[in-house]
This record gives sequence, structure tokens and C-alpha cells, in this order.
Amino acid sequence: MAGPAPPFRLLGTRCTACAAVFFPREDSACRNPHCAGGGDLAEVPLSPRGRVWSYTDGRYRPPAPYVSDPAEPWEPYVLIAVELEAEGMVVLGQGAPGVRLADLTVGAEVEVVGGVLNEDAETTWLTWQFRPVGPAGRAGSTGSAERSGGGS
Ligand SMILES: [Zn+2]
Repeated sequence: MAGPAPPFRLLGTRCTACAAVFFPREDSACRNPHCAGGGDLAEVPLSPRGRVWSYTDGRYRPPAPYVSDPAEPWEPYVLIAVELEAEGMVVLGQGAPGVRLADLTVGAEVEVVGGVLNEDAETTWLTWQFRPVGPAGRAGSTGSAERSGGGS
């Protein structure tokens, strides 16, 4: 097999005057109301990792402009809000294929990976996804989980 894939990074922009970071990228003007102005917006790679801020799953088909084939069965997906470490900003993205709600906890570390949003015969649209790293990323290998049995 090939070697490790090149790291996937989100690209934002940073104001050279006040250091505010924008994602999705802002290229026209700094949106920080406290910025003195006069800076340029330079492209910066964002943190490759962050921590789960919140998460949920999507069990219904979103309306357009979301692209989905109504002839295909709808597959629920996991949606994760991740707080990026260095930037302190929360970015929303889907879980990578195979990530389930049970794999996630608030505060767990996740990494950004590239994924496929949609594809047809000519084009593949890429997006970013999140996937747990470290022990939290284990896929049910140890069977010691116990239900807490209802209680009173
Ligand atoms: Zn600024």
C-alpha cells in the first residue's frame, strides 16, 4: 500500500492587523469590529485537531441545496461541532464514515480528515470530516461495557 496520506488541513484566513482567524475563509475585509484595519487577510492552515464541543446525528434528508438522490435510501450521519485548539473556534462537520454517536463524548479529541461529499461521473466534491483519535477511536474492540441497569 501507499505511504501515509498527506495531512488534510482546513484553510482559513488571518488578519495581519489584529490576528483574527476566519473560517470559512474571509477574503474581502476583516470582520473583527475591534480591528484597527489596514491588515491583509493571509491564508493559514487551521489546527489539525480539536475537541468535541457537541454532536448529534441527522436522521432525515435535508432540503436542497443539500445534494442527495431521493431514489437512494437516506443514511443517517453524525454531525460534530469541534472546538479547534489554537483558534478557539467551533467548526461544524460530519463524522467520517463509520463514526457513530457511541464513539463520541464531549471533550474527546478528534482530527480533521478529507472525505467525499458527493460524486458523479465527472466530479468528486470533497469536504472535511472529523474522526476520533487515540483510545476514543477504538471500534468496540473491548466488550467490557455494562449497562447501568435502569436504577430506581
Ligand atoms: Zn483585523
